[in-house]
Amino acid sequence: MVVERSERSCLLCGAPFSGRAFLCRACADAYRGAPVPADVRRRFYEAIDRVYPTWSNTYEEYNPPVGLLAHLATLPRTARVLEIGAGGGFALAALARMGFRRLVGLDLTATSLAATRQRVPAAWLVAADAERLPLRDGSVDVVLTSDVMEHLPDLDRHLAEVARVLRPGGHYLIKTPNRRPAEAYYRLRGLYDYHFWHPSMCSPGELRRLLARHGFACAFVAPPRLTQAQCRKIPWPRLRPLAARVPIGWLPNGLRPHLEVVAVRR
Ligand SMILES: [Zn+2]
Repeated sequence: MVVERSERSCLLCGAPFSGRAFLCRACADAYRGAPVPADVRRRFYEAIDRVYPTWSNTYEEYNPPVGLLAHLATLPRTARVLEIGAGGGFALAALARMGFRRLVGLDLTATSLAATRQRVPAAWLVAADAERLPLRDGSVDVVLTSDVMEHLPDLDRHLAEVARVLRPGGHYLIKTPNRRPAEAYYRLRGLYDYHFWHPSMCSPGELRRLLARHGFACAFVAPPRLTQAQCRKIPWPRLRPLAARVPIGWLPNGLRPHLEVVAVRR
């Protein structure tokens, strides 16, 4: 979210309002308690790229999955890696620099696929929803989602699809906000529309149980520091440089602002 309060227009209907949310109250209420259809999500995330390009993770990298990239560096470079919700292609570009050659990027929005095409010309790119993957059973060694899972309305459908396309023993690498601290922050900041853009956040226990239900064993990876995107959400600008140095890997899982997980398909 864009943290400064401002006069702005609803990303779905264009109505003017003042605040920190992306949607006007009427649009936020219209999508409360029911899954948001994929075409509405696509329209919303393409509008974010257009209206808030400096916050969208499509044109600049603010939120790298540092712990997961360190895990990827230990894997064979022959692995076929699928990134779901490839955003601006920053993680795929990092993998290409590491020497991975069999890269697939999938995203719902035309804006992020265009940015990824420019940044990682060698990757195979697919326009699709994370809950319906147009890939063959067992055709992928590693799946990566970074700040994607929380946006999906139906995690069971998503995980069933990931389990289907992964080979047995394959890895699903996930970065996602930690539900309790994230919810507390959104409420404190008056983000009445967070159910629309983060409908599926998990606590560490919820994520572990969800993955187990779909046949995954999981291990949490310690992120070393807050990302740039997390630092600039801190309401007191003078504290941000200090916060950037805090070694959050020492915190227990429940207190970390986000979770990074390596899940292995049994
Ligand atoms: Zn609206």
